[in-house]
Amino acid sequence: MYLNNIVEAIGNTPLVRLNKVTDGIKGTVLAKVEYLNPGNSVKDRMALKMIDDAEKAGILKPGGTIIEGTSGNTGMGLALGAIARGYKCIFVMSDKQSKEKQDILRAVGAEVVICPVDVEPEDPRSYYSVARRLTAETPNSFYPNQYDNLSNTAAHYESTGPEIWKQTEGAITHLACGVGTGGTICGTAKYLKEQNASVKTVGIDTYGSVFKKYKETGEFDKNEIYPYKTEGIGEDILPKNVNFDLIDLFIKVTDQDGALMTRRLAKEEGLFVGWSCGSAVFGALEYAREHLQEGDTMVVILPDHGTRYLGKIYNDDWMRAQGWL
Ligand code: PMP
Repeated sequence: MYLNNIVEAIGNTPLVRLNKVTDGIKGTVLAKVEYLNPGNSVKDRMALKMIDDAEKAGILKPGGTIIEGTSGNTGMGLALGAIARGYKCIFVMSDKQSKEKQDILRAVGAEVVICPVDVEPEDPRSYYSVARRLTAETPNSFYPNQYDNLSNTAAHYESTGPEIWKQTEGAITHLACGVGTGGTICGTAKYLKEQNASVKTVGIDTYGSVFKKYKETGEFDKNEIYPYKTEGIGEDILPKNVNFDLIDLFIKVTDQDGALMTRRLAKEEGLFVGWSCGSAVFGALEYAREHLQEGDTMVVILPDHGTRYLGKIYNDDWMRAQGWL
């Protein structure tokens, strides 16, 4: 029994009950452990789907170059897909992403271009703009654009949603998930709500991001946008993959609360996960404390692995320097 290549190992990640951090919560809270994908993140799923769909549409051709703006995890998924299918990769990242993520992408053969984070998305130096420019300049290139490419949502509609439905035997009542491009929560939510319309979805947002206010008021409030440190969730744009009708409410989590909960997940649950995982669990538990009933089953998606944050939230000196320990 063997797989033909590593991308065939994507998906079918375990659902693991949280036992300690959930102290005092009614109902069951289960974590979908996405770091057990081969690229160590949830983004493997959509990366492969974006490649598959682009090949089918004839947009991605043999010998082509994949160019993407990524916080790191999508890049890893695309790099694995590119190796399996024979493409080159150039990834454009902002300088706020951890050094580990840059090194990991270079380790799997990608070229990495670093851009400043503290510029407007429309600024020619932003990682969105640079990714677009490189695509225009590079022959036979493909820009997946994970923000607006609906293959992203479709990947989770086809895999993450059905897996959770099957693993909980239809008992899921609540889904909590961080929101970056929105693909994970919206694809998963769409499938689950089709099975049972009463499944409630909680989007986890960061302070410094536009989502929560936009959901509540319909206003794109630029005052909501300011620098924050959590990686992978929150945005200063409205990606097409965010379908606000599928996200019932948003909860904002601070960088510090997310970081401290991430460290607890490692020490108390043995889940050595990434920063946004702590944010997702912190926000999920805040909601659960008030609303979860006996017999309810909440699933929280944990997007990636702790190795990517060894120099930050798992480093006591770094944590102390933030004033968080
Ligand atoms: N957490 C991490 C670490 C991520 O890299 C991402 C992807 N941006 C997310 C959460 C959010 O997932 P999505 O883009 O599907 O909303």
